[in-house]
Amino acid sequence: MSVFNLDNQNKNLDNKIVAGLERLSQVFRILLWEKAKEHSLSPLQIQLLIFIRHHSADKTTVSYLAQEFNFTKPTISDAIKTLEQKQLIQKVTNTSDARSYTINLTAAGKKIVLETENFANPLTTIISKAKDSDKIVLWDNISSLIISLNKLEVISVQRTCFNCKHYSIKNKHHFCNLLDLKLLTQDIRIDCKEFEIA
Ligand code: SF4
Repeated sequence: MSVFNLDNQNKNLDNKIVAGLERLSQVFRILLWEKAKEHSLSPLQIQLLIFIRHHSADKTTVSYLAQEFNFTKPTISDAIKTLEQKQLIQKVTNTSDARSYTINLTAAGKKIVLETENFANPLTTIISKAKDSDKIVLWDNISSLIISLNKLEVISVQRTCFNCKHYSIKNKHHFCNLLDLKLLTQDIRIDCKEFEIA
């Protein structure tokens, strides 16, 4: 039964929610394309620059980026090659294995990130106007949906509390043992610098 069949969709709330999520997924693609056109880059190249800017060197290998963005390694390598030709990144060769490298942004690459990383702002503006209680319900549902999709292996890398070795349940509450902190719904992270796989 397809959620895109309008008879199925309009008489069933589950189907409408899924169809709505599909509609929302288009928003990021559209907003990113606008930035991509302005800078003569592909949406993937912009996503790579933004990701590299905000993550540690161990997450900037071709293998890691391929997993993160659900692309093949050759596709990521091609995008990296173009970014290097445009002098937006530099490869840093691994001293123990000359075939592998991590990626740094050049000053020009950092400038592109500054000019593009706000691409989701139209959405942020709308969310910021919602009531806090509604945001918490929304975040609870989004974070649960992400972990469920991760368990089904639909989405791969997830640096979220629910996959982290520092996460536990204490007195029926989410708890981070590293930060020694009770985690309320709004504290659950989906991309944490301190994350370590459980
Ligand atoms: S280290 Fe980060 S991801 Fe892990 S439980 Fe603590 S807050 Fe969550």
